[in-house]
Amino acid sequence: MAYFAAVLEAGAELAGDFEPDVSGVDGTVCRERAAAGRALLEPGEFRVDGRGFDLLFERLVALTKEHRGLFGEELDLPSLPEGGNGWSRELLSGLVGAEPDLSEALERAGGDPQLTAFLGAQALMPFLVANAWALRGLVEAASWNSGRCPVCGGAPVMARLEAEVGGRFLQCSLCLTEWSYKRLGCPACGIEDQERLRFFTDEKDETYRVDVCDACKAYLKTVDERKVDGEVCLPVDHLATIHLDLVAEREGYHRLGGGVPAGA
Ligand SMILES: [Zn+2]
Ligand SMILES: [Zn+2]
Repeated sequence: MAYFAAVLEAGAELAGDFEPDVSGVDGTVCRERAAAGRALLEPGEFRVDGRGFDLLFERLVALTKEHRGLFGEELDLPSLPEGGNGWSRELLSGLVGAEPDLSEALERAGGDPQLTAFLGAQALMPFLVANAWALRGLVEAASWNSGRCPVCGGAPVMARLEAEVGGRFLQCSLCLTEWSYKRLGCPACGIEDQERLRFFTDEKDETYRVDVCDACKAYLKTVDERKVDGEVCLPVDHLATIHLDLVAEREGYHRLGGGVPAGA
């Protein structure tokens, strides 16, 4: 956990103060997209401080090297692609879109693809969070009801069941926007078939459960706020429950968003 804490701290320190200029964003276009079920911004429209991204990515690579003991002997680190200008955009469009795009972006940086994707997403996150915050007035997160983030189109990192009404909310693995989603339904393929949607819980801690879909084999971890005393912070809960990801993956299910490198 010390490694993950250091990763989150580096993001806050190097990019936490970023304030994107969103004055050029056209609210009418955004509303039309939202009405059509599409994300508010296309990957190329996010304001990202390119130099800040580069610095953060390099810091995260250095941090990973310092914690190399976690990853075993064969730590294969990425490096920022030459003339990296624009790599953050390529990466983002891969992370929210098609798999071939993501593989290409990851290949350009080298390293273990899973690790590169994790470090890249973490280096983008503070910038994407700042964009989402600046545009929050345009997002209809309470009635979104899609499996993908209303702001960036990213996949959810985790879900929470709220304590009072029992509503279900998903949180984006990339920009941390939270939106509502139907209680029974797979965010990956959309089915609502009770027979093929089930969950298992952590035997030692029923606060967490893993919702799985037997139609598309996706899974999503969920925190049940009715069983929690303190505050819920899904990105932190996600990192604290990696053992559940291992169980789900062993059972043949695949994660939606928020991948972490093997071994960490
Ligand atoms: Zn998002
Ligand atoms: Zn499904």
